Amino acid sequence: MKCEILILGSGPAGWTAALYAARANRRPVVVRGLQPGGQLSITTDVENYPGFAEVIQGPWLMEQMEAQARTAGTEVIDDLITEVRLEQGTPFVCVGDGGAEYYGETLIIATGAQARWLGLESETKFRGHGVSACATCDGFFFRGMEVAVVGGGNTAAEEALFLTNFASRVHLVHRRDVMRAEKVLQDRVLRNEKIVPHWNREVAEVLGDNEPLGVTAIRLRATGDGANGAADETLPVAGVFIAIGHDPATGLFKGKLKMDAHGYIQTAPDSTATEIRGVYAAGDVRDAVYRQAVTAAGMGCMAALEAERFLAERE
Ligand SMILES: Cc1cc2nc3c(=O)[nH]c(=O)nc-3n(C[C@H](O)[C@H](O)[C@H](O)COP(=O)(O)OP(=O)(O)OC[C@H]3O[C@@H](n4cnc5c(N)ncnc54)[C@H](O)[C@@H]3O)c2cc1C
Repeated sequence: MKCEILILGSGPAGWTAALYAARANRRPVVVRGLQPGGQLSITTDVENYPGFAEVIQGPWLMEQMEAQARTAGTEVIDDLITEVRLEQGTPFVCVGDGGAEYYGETLIIATGAQARWLGLESETKFRGHGVSACATCDGFFFRGMEVAVVGGGNTAAEEALFLTNFASRVHLVHRRDVMRAEKVLQDRVLRNEKIVPHWNREVAEVLGDNEPLGVTAIRLRATGDGANGAADETLPVAGVFIAIGHDPATGLFKGKLKMDAHGYIQTAPDSTATEIRGVYAAGDVRDAVYRQAVTAAGMGCMAALEAERFLAERE
């Protein structure tokens, strides 16, 4: 299959890129990947996507984005790209799971990222019902309640501080007795009276009700051999924020595109352009900072406009 603008990923970045590319009459192709709709397809309430006074559901929002992109003239393919060939220049070649080849005069990478989870069964059960990986997205739901943040790096520190705007108390649960976060963030966390650290503990289980599904507490297990004085405990909380990092979906591009130390694709300043002309990266795949649907959508728009200019200049 050949097209002018080939888009990998069907999250907010991918669909917005497709919408703009289709409206520029470039008949884009979107390869949806294993998670059609991206990360928002696994969440429930979304209250911060502009344009909706009522609470909307993540999967519904993604269906709307897909429908809009299709109506504008996007072709949609269900495949998972397992190999890319960029070194020969345009057209760029992407190979699907079953061996199908897709040729794009330009390529927009919108493969997103995945939050890291603890891997507990109870965590999966309550995901979207008290267990979250995004304080910016879900903190508002816990006004006046006690919550826990799990992790010890910059993300955990930032999430804990942000949550103090809403929660009555924020329990910070960390496996070690010192945070890995930058010193300035650590100081802010430790000075904040609303944040209660629980050192040398890990989450053993998320506890909650079934009807309605919701978190009521977390059971903590002491790490180490007990010499550090930490004991098992149960914390009554309404929300648990897992803040142990994100993994950008960039394995395909290792050694082919510049990435930062955490695997996020690097682009030119104020641009989605990678170092290969005609290849663009938009959304969470290149953004370790904001990680929001609206910023991903904004970058999808930028990528499509930049791809369109590249094609127009060549013509
Ligand atoms: C539980 C949860 C709740 C959230 N709530 C909110 C919220 O309320 N508000 C908000 O603004 N943000 C929220 N976020 C963050 C938001 O979902 C992300 O910032 C946004 O989805 C990023 O969009 P994206 O298009 O960059 O990538 P993603 O949404 O991550 O989409 C990536 C896409 O790439 C595809 N893909 C990956 N690899 C391949 C491949 N090899 N071949 C083809 N396709 C591939 C996947 O199938 C997927 O469709 C939430 C995130 C989570 C996890």
